[in-house]
Amino acid sequence: MKVAVLGATGMVGRTFVRLLEGHPWFRVEKLVASERSAGRPYGEVVEDSPDEFRGLEIVSLGEFLEDPGVDLVFNALPASLSREVEEKLAEEIPVFTNARAHRYDEDVPILVPEVNPDHLGLVEVQRERRGWEGFIVTNPNCSTAVLTVSLAPLREFGIRRVHVATMQAVSGAGFSGLPALAVHDNVIPFISGEEWKIENESRKILGRIKGGKIEPAPFEVSAIATRVPVLHGHTEAVFVELARGSVEDVREAFESFDPLGRLGLPSYEKPLIYTEVPQPRLHRDRGRGLTVAVGRLEKSGRVFKYVVTGHNLVRGAAGGSLLNAELAVKLGYIMRKKGKAQPSSAGK
Ligand code: NAP
Repeated sequence: MKVAVLGATGMVGRTFVRLLEGHPWFRVEKLVASERSAGRPYGEVVEDSPDEFRGLEIVSLGEFLEDPGVDLVFNALPASLSREVEEKLAEEIPVFTNARAHRYDEDVPILVPEVNPDHLGLVEVQRERRGWEGFIVTNPNCSTAVLTVSLAPLREFGIRRVHVATMQAVSGAGFSGLPALAVHDNVIPFISGEEWKIENESRKILGRIKGGKIEPAPFEVSAIATRVPVLHGHTEAVFVELARGSVEDVREAFESFDPLGRLGLPSYEKPLIYTEVPQPRLHRDRGRGLTVAVGRLEKSGRVFKYVVTGHNLVRGAAGGSLLNAELAVKLGYIMRKKGKAQPSSAGK
């Protein structure tokens, strides 16, 4: 299938391009960015571009929208541009986006394939309600993605409350997001809007579909977000109150969590490993960046505490979005242009 990456020169866009190199199902046809980059070879703007894309000329967003000519779109544009762009594209083409613009729409899923694959069913509601041939599937904000992968195996023990303090890498703020002098040798306990996103996106992801929309999970999620001088990899200290279970039960649930292994998605990796002392520099590239590392598990009363770390640009952005698209293809939600359906062995 022919794909385009929007925002291909940014932090998330570059990660998409790297992950799409040699992909067995998706061929990058168009790399899209602003007028600042348009018309230049990708390798000239992104010096560490994969060889396959060095010579591909960057297309401006305006030119792309006139004639997309692809089967699906990965979006890594700023949120401020994304609402309108995504809606226009979704009239014809599936859009897998990292931007927050549509995350809170009733008929749009925030998808983490290992956590809520059934929420993909919302795209049919979307198509019907909005009269689109395509659809919009979002993935969560980066710290929410890491958190929800770690919470998914705990659902069987009855989650009652979640408190989390994050230590987020600087690449989470985008390519020119933070002045080096502000973050070097420092911890900044404020990331605009982040705590609201973690609290609300997690509850939507861990909720259930009812009457064509998501009923959020009924428990409280409370967050404090901090920025730390780490390049890539968000680390989170999590406190979860569970209705039942022992430390051994919870650790076993973490270690055996492998919900989609049977589907054979090309980018799929075991989503979680247990390791005694998770750290971003040591563990962020596990499973090509899609695996989160959990450790330091302890219990105090009914509260379990642990630390989780995961790659914000892969697990928390481009890698998660790529897995979303692979799942949608596998389950038969995407037709290739010229009307040919993708093979599906899993059914909807
Ligand atoms: P970024 O590094 O600032 O990249 C922004 C991209 O958008 C660049 O390719 C830029 O192109 C392009 N762009 C900006 N203005 C444009 C315009 N007017 N027309 C066309 N293209 C334009 O941002 P990022 O961190 O990759 O984030 C991208 C999106 O993903 C955002 O919505 C963000 O909230 C979301 N997200 C980020 C992370 C993360 O960890 N960084 C995680 C999850 C979600 P030029 O280079 O040509 O300016």
